Amino acid sequence: MTKQAEPPLPFLSLVVPVYNEEANLEELYSRLTKTLDATGRPFEIILVNDGSKDKTDEILKDLFKRRPHQIRVVTFNGNYGQQMAILAGFKVSRGTFAMTIDADLQNPPEEIPKLITLMDQGHDYVGSFRLKRHDNWFRTYASQLTNWLRRCATKVPMRDQGCMLRAYHRRIVDTVLSCHEPSLLVAVLAYTFAANPAEVGVEHRAREGGKSKYTLYKLIRLYFDLFTGFSLVPLQLFTFFGLSISGLSSLLVAYLLVRRLIVGQEAQGMFTLFAITFFLLSVVITGIGILGEYVGRIYQTVQNRPRYLVKEFLTDIPS
Ligand code: UDP
Ligand code: MG
Repeated sequence: MTKQAEPPLPFLSLVVPVYNEEANLEELYSRLTKTLDATGRPFEIILVNDGSKDKTDEILKDLFKRRPHQIRVVTFNGNYGQQMAILAGFKVSRGTFAMTIDADLQNPPEEIPKLITLMDQGHDYVGSFRLKRHDNWFRTYASQLTNWLRRCATKVPMRDQGCMLRAYHRRIVDTVLSCHEPSLLVAVLAYTFAANPAEVGVEHRAREGGKSKYTLYKLIRLYFDLFTGFSLVPLQLFTFFGLSISGLSSLLVAYLLVRRLIVGQEAQGMFTLFAITFFLLSVVITGIGILGEYVGRIYQTVQNRPRYLVKEFLTDIPS
């Protein structure tokens, strides 16, 4: 029996994390395939079902049947989060470039050719930033603030870490896959490996259907992962603060000693003392919390458990 010829490797692998997106998948499929067909480049679409509980599973199976040569579906056995879904997509991707896009159509698929133009110009990382953001005010300002903090605290000067329409060269994808951190931000980590990054402004729309999958808690966790994963500045700030406080308090002790000698015994300022004590106590507790974040990261890294579990993988290429 003659061995079947391997299909040519795609130029682009579209990786889409999907969590309870039944309302958007049909439109995503039609707009994505229309745009990608028009580019004339070989592509594959990898849909990663991150433990959805709605009809996502059925719909993804149906999409796979429509284009088995171009669509692959990875199904997790639980909800591991958007970043893990992207990693799982990267793992099975074969394209020279991998591109991530959200399933909710907030990043219009019609913007993909803008990124392809930059890839063709030789950029190994093509990021994007939202020209005009369509999210609620809290999300918009929280993200502006964290973008600013990230620029100050890390060596990653990218414009908008929250915009997930991004393309990475295979070399970067493989390097990201070789990192075994328990929690990471793919877009930021990948940027640190880029030799020739570029960014392009893209349209941003309000979510088509369903609602955001990010609760306030998930967002806060994400921001902690960002700062503990990419910077030691939070720890260094504490060292700096601790040194300044000890400098100031030694001056205060010297001053009180001199006062005691000149003015004599005094028993005033009880409440000031309480206020200062409580303030310092809160700083110490926060410091322990921040230290705990880093220790927790180390602990999880040492445990080295699987970051996600795949229940099913639909592909027409036998392994
Ligand atoms: N997502 C996921 N797992 C999660 C949360 C979100 O795979 O636990 C997917 C979601 O289906 C979408 C993308 O990640 O494709 C971005 O999520 P969302 O639109 O809810 O985030 P937001 O735009 O509000 O930041
Ligand atoms: Mg969204």
